[in-house]
Formats: sequence, C-alpha cells, structure tokens
Amino acid sequence: IAGATAIRNTGIRSYLTNWLVLRISSSYQSSEDPGAFAVATNGEPFPWYHLRLPNSVIPLHYDLFVHPNLTSLDFVASEMIEILVRDTTQFIILHCKDLEIMNATLQSEEDLRDKKPGKKLHVLSYPAHEQIALLVPEKLMADLRYYVAIDFQGKLANGFEGFYKSTYRTLHGETRIIAVTDFQPTQARMAFPCFDEPLFKANFSIKIRRESRHIALSNMPKVKTIELQGGLLEDHFATTVKMSTYLVAYIVCDFNSVSGTTSSGVKVSIYASPDKWNQMHYALQASLKLLDFYEKYFDINYPLPKLDLVAIPDFGPGAMENWGLITYRETSLLFDPRTSSVSDKMWITKVIAHELAHQWFGNLVTMEWWNDIWLNEGFANYMELISVNATYPELQFDDYFFDVCYAVITRDSLNSSRPISKPAETPTQIQEMFDAVSYNKGACILNMLKDFLGEEKFQEGIIHYLKKFSYRNAKNDDLWGSLSNVSPMWNYSRLLSLKSCRIITKENKIKEMMTTWTLQKGIPLVVVKQDGCSLSIQQERFLEGVFKEDPEWRALFLWHIPLTYSTSSSNTIHRHILKSKTDTLDLAEKTTWVKFNVDSNGYYLVHYEGHGWDQLITQLNQNHTLLRPKDRIGLIHDAFQLVSAGRMTLDKALNLTRYLQHETSSPILLKGLSYLELLYHMMDRRNISDVSENLKRYLLWYFKQMIDTQSWSDEGSAWDRMLRSVLLRLACELGHAPCIQKATELFSQWMESSGKLNIPTDVLKIVYSVGAQTTAGWNYLLEQYELSVSSAEKNKILYALSTSRHQEKLVKLIELGMEGKVIKTQDLAALIHAIARNPKGQQLVWNFVRANWTDLLKKFDLGSFAMRTIISSTTSFFSSKDELQEVKQFFESLSAQGSHLDIFQIVLETITKNIKWLEKNLPTLRTWLLGEKIEKQL
Ligand SMILES: [Zn+2]
Repeated sequence: IAGATAIRNTGIRSYLTNWLVLRISSSYQSSEDPGAFAVATNGEPFPWYHLRLPNSVIPLHYDLFVHPNLTSLDFVASEMIEILVRDTTQFIILHCKDLEIMNATLQSEEDLRDKKPGKKLHVLSYPAHEQIALLVPEKLMADLRYYVAIDFQGKLANGFEGFYKSTYRTLHGETRIIAVTDFQPTQARMAFPCFDEPLFKANFSIKIRRESRHIALSNMPKVKTIELQGGLLEDHFATTVKMSTYLVAYIVCDFNSVSGTTSSGVKVSIYASPDKWNQMHYALQASLKLLDFYEKYFDINYPLPKLDLVAIPDFGPGAMENWGLITYRETSLLFDPRTSSVSDKMWITKVIAHELAHQWFGNLVTMEWWNDIWLNEGFANYMELISVNATYPELQFDDYFFDVCYAVITRDSLNSSRPISKPAETPTQIQEMFDAVSYNKGACILNMLKDFLGEEKFQEGIIHYLKKFSYRNAKNDDLWGSLSNVSPMWNYSRLLSLKSCRIITKENKIKEMMTTWTLQKGIPLVVVKQDGCSLSIQQERFLEGVFKEDPEWRALFLWHIPLTYSTSSSNTIHRHILKSKTDTLDLAEKTTWVKFNVDSNGYYLVHYEGHGWDQLITQLNQNHTLLRPKDRIGLIHDAFQLVSAGRMTLDKALNLTRYLQHETSSPILLKGLSYLELLYHMMDRRNISDVSENLKRYLLWYFKQMIDTQSWSDEGSAWDRMLRSVLLRLACELGHAPCIQKATELFSQWMESSGKLNIPTDVLKIVYSVGAQTTAGWNYLLEQYELSVSSAEKNKILYALSTSRHQEKLVKLIELGMEGKVIKTQDLAALIHAIARNPKGQQLVWNFVRANWTDLLKKFDLGSFAMRTIISSTTSFFSSKDELQEVKQFFESLSAQGSHLDIFQIVLETITKNIKWLEKNLPTLRTWLLGEKIEKQL
C-alpha cells in the first residue's frame, strides 16, 4: 500500500478502503539524471530512474476492458497483462499518465490455472517519467509468465490525446458527444497502464461497454455483444495481431457508415457523424482502390479482416494510422461534392494513401524507437507518390511531390536543421520528431534511392524488408540491408568504369551512401563548371542566409550523391556517384548546356558557374520544350534558392521566369507564380509600397491573358483547376476589377439564395473572400460557418473570414477560436496561420500569442503540430532587426520558464535570412521592375 500522498479515497470510492488509489499527475519533467535516484509521489524510493522502460519484463497480451460514460465524461476500466519475465526482478515498470489505479494484483501461471486470487501489488507512481512501479512480494523468475491485473479509472481528456471527448453538432443544432482515442506517440499510457514503447509489441483483446444508442469500434471486428442488466451492452472484439501500443484504438459514437469489400475480401467502411452520409463515398472508393494496390505492390495481404476509416470531429493531426481503425480529421476524409475543391480531393487522396501505407510501414514493421520515425513517416509519404500515381493518374501526383521536397529544402538549408535520425527521449522531443525532416526529407531521399536502384529493384527491396521484419521492429540498417540484397550489380559495374567509384562490396554500398543522407543534416549544393568537354563538379553544404563571406559558412559536409545529368546534344541520362569534394567528368561530345538532377529526382541543388546558367536561360527562352518539364520546375526552384544563398543575383532568377509566358504546363506556371507572389507579399508586409505597387502591376500585366481566359467553373484537368484557383485568387487579392466584380456577383447570388446556390468549388474560397470584405458579407459568412455540416466548406469560410481588413473582426475570430465552440480548438492553429498571412492581422496574432502563451499551452502540447504551427506562422514572415529582437526576447523568456523547442532556432534563423535577403536584393528588385515595360492599359 502506498503512502498518504498517493492514496486518495474519495467519497464515491470510500467502500474501496483497502484499494490502492493512485493519481498520476500530468506534469512532466524532462531531465534524466542517472546519478540521482527517483522518489515516488508518496516519498518512497522509486525503483527505476530511466525514461525508457527496463527490458526485464515484456508484455505478451493485454485483455483490456473499458467502460466510458459519455454523460459524466469519465471511464472505468480494467486490464490483465500477460507478461514474460526475461531477467529475475522485483518490480514491473509501466507507463501511466492521468489515471487512477484502484487495484493491482499478480498471478503466476499456476495461480491462474488453480484459480487462486492474485497477490496484491504495491504501486508507486513517478509522474515526472509518466511511470508506475508495481512492487511484487516475491521475485519474478526469469522465463516464467505472469498475469498482472489492474483496475483503474480516468476522465475523458479535454484535448486531442489519450482517450478523449469529441463533440459535433447535428443539422438540427443538437450537440452530441463521442469518445475516441489517439495515442501516437506516447499517449496510450493516458488510456491504460502499459509498456508504451514501440518495441513492446503484444496482442490486445478489447471489450467495450456502451449504451444502446451508441456503437463501439476498435482495431478488430466485433465477435459478440453481450446484453447486461440495465440495458447496457458489451462488445467483445477479436484479438489483434501483434502490435505496438500506440496503434491501439477504440471509439464510442453514434456514427453511420458506408462499406465495400476489396478484391481480397477485406471489408472497408467509412464512418462519420450521421448528417455526413453523402460525403463518405469518395473516401470509400479511394480506400478500396488503394488497399487493393498496396496488397499487390507489397506482395503481402492486409492482415486484418476489416479496415475502418473514421472522420473525427475534433482531431489533432491530419489522421492517425491505428491498425484497422484509422482516424481522420473530417477535412482529411470527407469529400463533399458540393463544396470540396480539386485540391481538397488531392489532399484526401494523399492522406488516405498515407495512412493505408502505414498499415505496412509502421504497423506491420515498426521502427525500434522514435529516433527513426522517418522509417514510418518518410515511407508513408513516399508511398503516397507510388500509390496515388498508380490509382489516380489523372491527379498527376508527381507534380505534387515536388512540393514535398521543396518544402523541406527551405528548412534543411538552415543551420538549425537536424539529421533524419536523431536521438529523442522525452515526449516533447519525440513529438518534435514528427516534422518535415522525417516526413518530407525521408520521402525525398527514398525517391532518390529509387531512381538510383530502379523501380523494380527498389520495390523488391522493400518487399524483402517488410517480409523479413513483419510483426517486428527495424532500424535504418535493416532497411539498407534489405535494399542491398537486391541492388543490381550492373548498376555498379557500369559505375566502376567511372574513376571516382571505389570497388566496395554491395552490402556496404547502399548503407554507405544512405547514411550520408540520414545521419547528417542539410542538403548538398553541386557546383558545376563546364570547360569544353570537361565538367568540374564540386559539392558543399547549401546554406541559405549564410553567405560565403559570413563566419558561419563552412563546408564540412560530404555526401554520396547519385548524380544524373543530360546535355543539349543528347537525351541520354548519365549517372555518376559523387563521393569526394571535387571531381571531373568527361563529356562525350561538345554541348551548349548540361542539366544536372534529371527530373529533379535527387535531393540536391545545382549551381552552374561560368556561362552555365546563361545557356540554360537562353534555351528556356528559345525553346523551353527541349528541357524536360520536371527539369524546368527544378531550374526555377534552384535559381530562387541560389538567390537566397547569395549565389545568384535576383535579376538573373527573374529573367529566367520571363520564359513562363510561353509555358503551358500548369504545375510549372504555378511554381513560377509562387515565387513572384512571395516577393509581392514580402514587399507588401514591409510596406515597401513603390516596389509592391510595381510588382502588383507586373503580376497583373504578365499573367493578364491567363487570368482573363479563366472560366469560373470546375472544368479541366486537376492541375488546370488548381492553376485557375491560384490565378483568380491572386487577381482578386491584387484588386483586379473584373475578378472582384465576378466574385461579388456570385457572392450576392449566393446570399440571396440563402446559401443554396452551388458555386464552382475551385472558386468558392475566392468568392467567399471577396464577400467577406463587407460587414454584411462577413457576418453572413460567420452565420453560415456555424450552420454548415461540410468541413470543406467551413475551412473555406474560415479562410475568407480571416482575410478581413478590419481588426475588430479578426479579434472576434481569435476570441471564437479560443472559446472553442463556434470555431473548434482543432482549427485554432490554422486560424492563427491564416490571420498571420493577412498583413492587417500579422501584428495582431503575434501580440496575441505572446499574451496568451500559457492559455495556448493548456490547449496544445508544447511539441505538438499545433504549437509549432502557431509559433512559426506568427513569426517567420518578419524581416526587420527590431522584429528579430522582439521574437528573440520572447523565446528567451519562454526558455527561462522551461519551454524549449527546436522551432525557436528555426524561426530566428528564418528571420535573419529574410533580413539579409532584403538587404541584398531589394535594390535589384526595384531596378529590375523599373526596367520591365509594363503596358499602361491596366
Ligand atoms: Zn504518417
């Protein structure tokens, strides 16, 4: 029995006089001092002082019973964990957070067989590490099995973690409550005491008690329902396959579903709140197609008999891959034919593809520890590309994948970036691992490796990996081992003829190459100089905002870069691995230009010295089709990155974009447009009005023909539709009269029809945004926001509301977001991001975040996606020294209070980069714009 502080017999439980009642507080201290010994909450010594659990005991099976009460918002539960003792021990350490332990007992196999009652266990709690210790009366003997039974209870959590409460509003205005779990990475311990580390895989048999008006869902199908006295029902679910705790899931709700069956007989169902029936069909079709695809691609059947995809009204991340019971934000799963746009469709398809890929990458084979979370997330992101391309070729997902890589390059070219694999111990550090480096860079280096090995060999390698490590855990080296087993010798023998390639055994080859990408941070810049038929190449770390003359600039990094290049004289793709700092290549014939990184498959940037860039720019202007479309995107991207790094002048990059007038590929036009728009926003925010006005005129003049020929409809290919959305949004934002007139017209008609009029989905956001500029329009949109049962529409309305130029309206939005009723807390970070994008709102939200930091931390974990979005979106646009100072001071005050995040350093470096960019490029931009002959008739 624990001491006084640990035992809390409340009135309601007073009959449990001899039961141990333990309250685990939620406070978490991250320090781990091996020299110190831990003290439990009751003052007794806690027998374990590490953050990681001991290996002396491993779980085999959990029998878990849960009874949530959706009226009183709490739950009672019990579990029986079958454990195997590896090393003789006198205690069992479990993770446990915010739960009240009522009783804990232990039985041996013999006890269980003879039906002897369990021996009471003494329970100690150590909240700093979210652990409890079960002290056993007699030593547990190695190689024997034991059974630990624990009765416990807790409250349904308020946030988005553990076993928590979510609510939704029906068409008739009634608010209903559901209970749902979300455990990744370290929150299963908030729902039941467990060995909450990915390596401790076990089987789970789950029982849920519920009222008859609800249903219960879990990872596995229901095998039976028992009727209890008083009308309660108890669902028993089939035992799961062997899996990690973070993948366990259960939901009690009153949702409806639509179902279908895959060609291999897996039942797939989509669940959502009852009014959303007509929004579930696209997700069903997509998940059936994608599950069929993955089963063939991985050559491993999905091992469970069913798969449910559930749209949860309140959800932290975009979605979560719980095995057999995937949970989504409504916007990531529900496609509303009336209000969902083509980019919504792209997003939904992508997220479904991602979570389905996890059923293999992550669920079947799990990383050993969170330092390698990229093995889950990088792969799932990469598999989106493979699977969506195969199942929905019309979405041209290839062109979407560029942005996956380009988005992380911005981060990876800062000094504060991190390697893909990085130690992470505390829950906050583990949460921070779920970032662009794990997701995007992980996916991009896999794509580069696939390009190097060839599609088939790569696929064979990952099938080998998945089969070899099924129901187990893996590390980076295991993946490289599997890929080496199949890697083609021809590839090497061909390469051996090139002088920089040493002969190495193939087992080491892949590992040797890939660890240069996973264990060191940053992205390489390959500098190419052509001299007749000779190419000299050199690699260095690409750093933005740090120039060669700066003291921070160092080139200590070395990668094994699988280079590809083509030339003006042939279409052949040449390959060469650059391992050393410098190297030379001989060209077979004389060429006017060389283009490296064919199809932009490699994770590196290229700078062409001498006349290299000029030749490429000339080619673009003369006949851009001689360069492959993906190479044209790459050139635009690299040019603007090189400007940021001080390696190219801005006017040269701008001159490159001149050819866009002849460009017909929508993804390329979008890329070019995005850089020009970025310049405009930077000038607009800083009130550099002469330049921003000239840029506005330039953009409207340059893209006038394209803007004016856009139809206000949903016609065309996926990328034509996306281009239309962007062009028309920009035109209206820049005050292009015909655009505003058309949008105003549609908005009035929509209001007159009481929101019944169907507006083409691709222009819906634009029409709402123009409508939100009047007080009547803004108020009407807010009313519709509350009434709408389409989260796709609500998202568009919320964005529109955030574009208001009236500060008091923006303040009202933030208040609603903090209150969490009309605007849900799950949408607060996106709201703050949207307001920060509005020049009239940026200072407002920045002041707000500083003043309400503690309240925000009550809503979101420090390391969560939401907090990181809030921090970066309110600060990373800044570009003056005063602003930098202000942000620095704020972060320092937080660090002094114990809040520290990697994002702080990233933001500070980003602002510094912005300041340097302006200093270096503003005069050039001003002059370049004056030189452009913009026609007057605008
Ligand atoms: Zn994922």
